[in-house]
Amino acid sequence: MVNNRLVPMHPLKGIDAIGNVMRRGLCLDVRPLSCMSCQSEDFERPEATTESLTLIMYGRHDFNKGRCACKNCGIEHKQGLADFVRTGFWPASPDGEKFETIIDQRVFEHFAALKDRALHISTKV
Ligand SMILES: [Zn+2]
Repeated sequence: MVNNRLVPMHPLKGIDAIGNVMRRGLCLDVRPLSCMSCQSEDFERPEATTESLTLIMYGRHDFNKGRCACKNCGIEHKQGLADFVRTGFWPASPDGEKFETIIDQRVFEHFAALKDRALHISTKV
C-alpha cells in the first residue's frame, strides 16, 4: 500500500515483518548434510540471500544463493559449493569459494549421449 492505495507488487518483491518492501529472490532447495554445531540433519527450507547464482540447465536460469537454519539449534548455514556438488551440480566458476555459476550434471550426460550418437562431434575421431 502506497499513499493509502493498493498497488500491484512485483513478483520478486515482498514485505518484511515491519512493513518494508524488500527484494525476494529464488534459491534452490539445497541443504547442508549436517549442522556444523549439533550434527542435526534437519533444516528449515532455504531462504534466498542477496548473492546471485546462475544455473545452467537447458538454458540459463538466475537464482540467489540461499541459507537455512538448523531446526535443532537455530544456527544458519549458507549454501556452499560442496552442498551443490553433492546434489548433482558442478561449478563453472574458476574460484571455488565465490562460485557464481553451476551446471546441472544432466547437461554433461546430454553431451556424452550426443557424442555417442553423432560421432563427427567427438574429439577422439
Ligand atoms: Zn544445529
